[in-house]
Amino acid sequence: MEKQLEALKQTFCEELGHARKVDDIEPMRVKYLGRKGALTSILRQMGTLSPEERPRMGALSNALKTFMEDALAKKSEELMRTSKVSGIDVTLPGRAPRRGGIHIINQVIRELEDIFLGLGFTVASGPEVEDDYHNFQALNIPEHHPARDMQDTFYFQQGILLRTHTSPVQVRVMEKGVLPVRIIAPGKVYRCDSDVSHTPMFHQIEGLWVEEGITFVHLKGVLYEFIHRLFGKDVPLRFRPSFFSFTEPSAEVDIGCIMCKGKGCRVCKNSGWMEILGCGMVDPEVYKYVNIDPEKVTGFAFGLGIERIAMLKYGIGDIRMFFENDLRFLEQFA
Ligand SMILES: [Zn+2]
Repeated sequence: MEKQLEALKQTFCEELGHARKVDDIEPMRVKYLGRKGALTSILRQMGTLSPEERPRMGALSNALKTFMEDALAKKSEELMRTSKVSGIDVTLPGRAPRRGGIHIINQVIRELEDIFLGLGFTVASGPEVEDDYHNFQALNIPEHHPARDMQDTFYFQQGILLRTHTSPVQVRVMEKGVLPVRIIAPGKVYRCDSDVSHTPMFHQIEGLWVEEGITFVHLKGVLYEFIHRLFGKDVPLRFRPSFFSFTEPSAEVDIGCIMCKGKGCRVCKNSGWMEILGCGMVDPEVYKYVNIDPEKVTGFAFGLGIERIAMLKYGIGDIRMFFENDLRFLEQFA
């Protein structure tokens, strides 16, 4: 039995020497010291010993038990200190959080806001869930007006809808009755549209200046300044007559193609021009909805798509890329 104890001690020491992680220790304790462990099974043979031998063997077994317990505890502590798996290795380099960036669309919005703030405008906002009155009627688009077809949107119940343009912000600002009004309103708008150049949600920026004595000349002055600050001083502009229900007269503005400098290319369909925004003098009819006297003030409004500006400025061919959240695309602008 004494030899068995010695052999057990030797196997135990060898095995402990191979222990590499804290998790190895507990199975060893069970294997050697547990109720069904190796030491216990040797102790069961005590009954076969002569009464003279028993005390000595008892003492030897107890000594071995204490030795194993101490060795396991010491090894466990040692592994805990050096272990790279269960413990914390304070020498490893830290993990820094990935740096985020401002989305390309928000960057363009900020740039546009900067330009207009510099021209004396303030930023206004309104709800994206809008009522029919503010989105259509007060903008001179009554029910059954064909212009509604071009702006099919998503409807809730009882005349509530996702706004199809940022123009209802104009109405909401003028309703407050504080003149003069000189605002821009950037924000999300919604339409039932989806292809290479349309997404169901996109961004517009709206501008409105209402004050005594405002004329088309002021409109042109603001837009020239805006386009030149955005695309450079040598970009030509042209105004084409157009129709919007809430402006009269109305115009669409083209700029000389940025890709080919007006020579004609695929992007501008060989015309040398690209449509960039719609604008006009506020229709006197609209003032009636907001209790402003059209005999006393005049004003102009303009609106443009922010994605379109971003696509032109950065040469992006597919509007959907803005919303697919592909980091390889977004990181180029971070
Ligand atoms: Zn071109």
